[in-house]
Amino acid sequence: MPRALNFLLALFVTATLVGCASQAPRASEPLIISVEEWGGSRINVGPTRKHEIKHITLHHGGVDFLKGTDTAHHLRNLQAWSRNTRGWPDIPYHYLIDPDGNIYEGRDITLAGDTNTEYDPTGHALIVVLGNFDKVEPNAAQIDATVAVMALLAKRYNVVPTTIQSHRDYAKTSCPGANLYPYIASGEFARRVAAKI
Ligand SMILES: [Zn+2]
Repeated sequence: MPRALNFLLALFVTATLVGCASQAPRASEPLIISVEEWGGSRINVGPTRKHEIKHITLHHGGVDFLKGTDTAHHLRNLQAWSRNTRGWPDIPYHYLIDPDGNIYEGRDITLAGDTNTEYDPTGHALIVVLGNFDKVEPNAAQIDATVAVMALLAKRYNVVPTTIQSHRDYAKTSCPGANLYPYIASGEFARRVAAKI
């Protein structure tokens, strides 16, 4: 094969490979920090309940969570507390969002979550925004990340965006806080999720 042709062929193969690689992570899907990446363990403690996602339900952490907090460290503590103190198999939520809008994987989405309140979280994909939104306003990065996770879940599990609700819509609680709830109540999350999927 002539040298020039060989070079062109190599160039073509390289371009094709690079092209494929850049298509692998779908641009529309948010980056999610896995349990392994934040240093957690996937070994569930005690009984678990398999479920199928029918609802998307929003929570807040309910305690102060300042920007600059080491989220991975917090999640490792939360996982240990959930298992050792609460006797739950894992963190009660499936996805967690920090003040920088980073999204972390929590409990295996195929397993039902847990709650301190009187509603059955079976069938609910549980998203928690870390912080106390009875006290502070959510920032734009947190809102954008919440929309991104909701859209991912709505698309994957065929959940109608207008049915996305929050903890207080199911149980007696102020969760997800006075300053985060209006995004549910006004339909803003539903509108932004619908526009994304
Ligand atoms: Zn809640």
